[in-house]
Amino acid sequence: MNPEPGFRPPPLPQNQQAQQGRRVLIALTVVGAFLIIAGILFIKYFKKGEQPQPSPPPSGDELQVHVLNVGQGDSILVIAPGGKSVLVDAGAPGSGKVVIDAMKRYGVNQIDLMVATHAHADHIGGADEVMRRTKVTTVLDSKISISTKNYEDFLSAIERTGAKYVPASPGQKFDLGGNATLTVLAPIQPFFTSDQLRSGANEPNANSIVTRLDYGDFSMLLTGDAEAETEDRLMKTGANIKARILKVGHHGSRYASSEKFLRQGGFEAAVISNGAENRYGHPNQTALDRLRQLGTKLYRTDLQGEITIIARGSGYEIKTERAESGDLWAGRTPPRNDAADEGDSSRSSRPSRRTGSGR
Ligand SMILES: [Zn+2]
Repeated sequence: MNPEPGFRPPPLPQNQQAQQGRRVLIALTVVGAFLIIAGILFIKYFKKGEQPQPSPPPSGDELQVHVLNVGQGDSILVIAPGGKSVLVDAGAPGSGKVVIDAMKRYGVNQIDLMVATHAHADHIGGADEVMRRTKVTTVLDSKISISTKNYEDFLSAIERTGAKYVPASPGQKFDLGGNATLTVLAPIQPFFTSDQLRSGANEPNANSIVTRLDYGDFSMLLTGDAEAETEDRLMKTGANIKARILKVGHHGSRYASSEKFLRQGGFEAAVISNGAENRYGHPNQTALDRLRQLGTKLYRTDLQGEITIIARGSGYEIKTERAESGDLWAGRTPPRNDAADEGDSSRSSRPSRRTGSGR
């Protein structure tokens, strides 16, 4: 049967029309949601592309790093933009006074974090005096203990003052306020043992706490007495060693600051903390030559006194206490070949291992 000319299908019943409408609405909602999600993802991706290093923006206030003049040893006072303070090492016994004086000069009332890079006397010798004379909230330790009076005094000062004891571990991040951070890179476990180290080297140095300080476009690597073995391990494990400034490892020892490490770090400036009179021959000429070859700007506490770095999140400036009193690029020679061993720091628990290291 043919339909009549002009036949039109009968209109859909009303409930079928409503169903079709709902389907269209659902389809539109799905498409809309998809577009919104795609948009959010695109913006996120785009933003990421704009900022390859998504570090938080600096507050714009000053970050101060004072590499104190404690003679042969290390002590670095960091004052973060938000006012928090970090003391990386406290120099040799007797250096507590230098730290306390610097705190007074810069209006620092307490140490929020004390980093004891390792147990040698030229790094923790002044720590008990600092803890006796000012409040230290938290102490970060490498946990490589040695049986010296200095290290025992350091541990008992922590106990006596009730400072919080924290063993260092890579990845720990300390928020210093104002979007400045201190990140632990080493010691990396398992700890170096003596059989893994060259003759004359030692576990406290090789397992030094290495940290990086970040604030806006400013960054600084603080290496304690880490040597080439530590540097190799940092590079092999992919630690972020790229920084604008390097606190040179082990006072400029020839066994630290390998060329590969300096190249990868890309440091613009390097600071050596050492004493004018030291029996180790620090800094060593070959280490200085490696820094000079890469065009690194050099600062030394033995020739320029206290070195101060000021960063405001964008750029930085370095000031010295005084004009250099000698050639920055000239290394020191140990006074007596048999007495000096730059592989070790003073007062190690293993005096027998101090002899026989190559220089
Ligand atoms: Zn040292």
